[in-house]
Amino acid sequence: MQCNNCGGTYIEISDDYKFESLIAGTLWAPDIHSLRCSRCTNRLLAPGEHKKILDYVRDKESELISQQPISHFISAGEAASMLAMTKQAFSKNKKIIRGFILFTVIDDRKYYLKKSVEQFKLTGDGRICLVVKEEYSDPLSWGDYSGKIIKFRQKEPIETTIPEGAFKYE
Ligand SMILES: [Zn+2]
Repeated sequence: MQCNNCGGTYIEISDDYKFESLIAGTLWAPDIHSLRCSRCTNRLLAPGEHKKILDYVRDKESELISQQPISHFISAGEAASMLAMTKQAFSKNKKIIRGFILFTVIDDRKYYLKKSVEQFKLTGDGRICLVVKEEYSDPLSWGDYSGKIIKFRQKEPIETTIPEGAFKYE
């Protein structure tokens, strides 16, 4: 496979990828394979590696949510009444199903983070940041999951785009 930029040869490398998570802040997905052109700075993610990055991010986010104090969570019924919804409307809400309200699962039941429910009520998006944010020098790197968010840790940073809908909250 030749570089589509300069015709050079790709070499496969393994590296950490940076991902700016709305919920968990800066994450580094370890051991991600990509192809680097030996002549120019062109780099490509190896097939399947997008999914590996997104799985890593999803795990880290879930872990972080589950570490919040238990007293900060409310039941689905309480969350529904905070949003002035019936329990049925709450459980069928597409955004909520997609993870726009942060939740954790305890004994097979979902419990919702109260702060996230409040944020959802205000803005329709309850994905709040659960870590202290660092100063981000690059506003581009802080944003939507479908945006330009992944960069190399080393030298010439590259940006790559995750296809729309590749990251689904379930
Ligand atoms: Zn090249």
